[in-house]
Amino acid sequence: MTGQDPTSAVAIDTSRPHPARMYDWYLGGKDNYPVDEEMGRQMLTLDPRVPVMARVNRAFMHRATRWLAGNGVRQFLDIGTGIPTEPNLHQVAQETAPDARVVYCDNDPIVLAHAAALLRGTDEGATEYLQADVRDPDAILEGARKVLDFTRPVALSLIALLHFVPDEDGAHDLVRRLLAELPSGSYLVITHATADFTPEESEAATEKLRAAGVTLALRSRAEFTRFFDGLDLVEPGVEVPHRWHPELGEPVPGQDDGVIPGYGAVARKP
Ligand code: SAH
Repeated sequence: MTGQDPTSAVAIDTSRPHPARMYDWYLGGKDNYPVDEEMGRQMLTLDPRVPVMARVNRAFMHRATRWLAGNGVRQFLDIGTGIPTEPNLHQVAQETAPDARVVYCDNDPIVLAHAAALLRGTDEGATEYLQADVRDPDAILEGARKVLDFTRPVALSLIALLHFVPDEDGAHDLVRRLLAELPSGSYLVITHATADFTPEESEAATEKLRAAGVTLALRSRAEFTRFFDGLDLVEPGVEVPHRWHPELGEPVPGQDDGVIPGYGAVARKP
């Protein structure tokens, strides 16, 4: 052993599934445990298209980031980053804008353990990782201010995160609180799972995850759209992710209108 295992320094709970690790399993990654794979396989029995949905979601992040960098955004605050999966957001942003500055944030220790892969960016730009919970926006804002200039526009992204934050935790207020600190010209980027298209499977998935200690707060189109109150939605507005600016990337193999992970949108703060 070389002692290089990045997970050795942090406490990883392998007694129950974790969203970041299940997502890694769907994407074919290696940073997951038997308990995550087991729950992932149970999700596949409800809907075998989940791995394609994960890729469709990831591809949305790539295109949205390309769009933002192409429209002059140079600062990114990404909450619920997930286990590093190439290309990561900073790599997409810095491909267009090498001087892009990116702050990543997640609350799962497995992401912290692998954060080094999130920090290899350009010399001109900056990448930083914060271990924090979206339910503690003050801690996130304090950390982000050390890297980002809050007098200039910031793209705040919460990609496949908010469906783990129930209304009791004030999901909409948390987003409002974070946005309040960002100047005009900033952007909000969200993807979010919904039960709108597959109510029965979604209910069964929510139940299975709850039994394993994972809260899933699926939201309707109207509830999703409410996150963008007071903002100007970028065309085409609230869409299923693969239909949002498809020209900015390659289609994911297997994607079609029958494979819908939820909603995605990007909006500008006036
Ligand atoms: N944004 C990435 C990963 C999505 S998986 C992508 O779309 O590809 C959801 C991520 O949100 C996981 O990494 C999980 O650890 C993180 N997460 C869940 N609840 C969170 C919370 N309360 N605060 C911060 N991160 C959270």
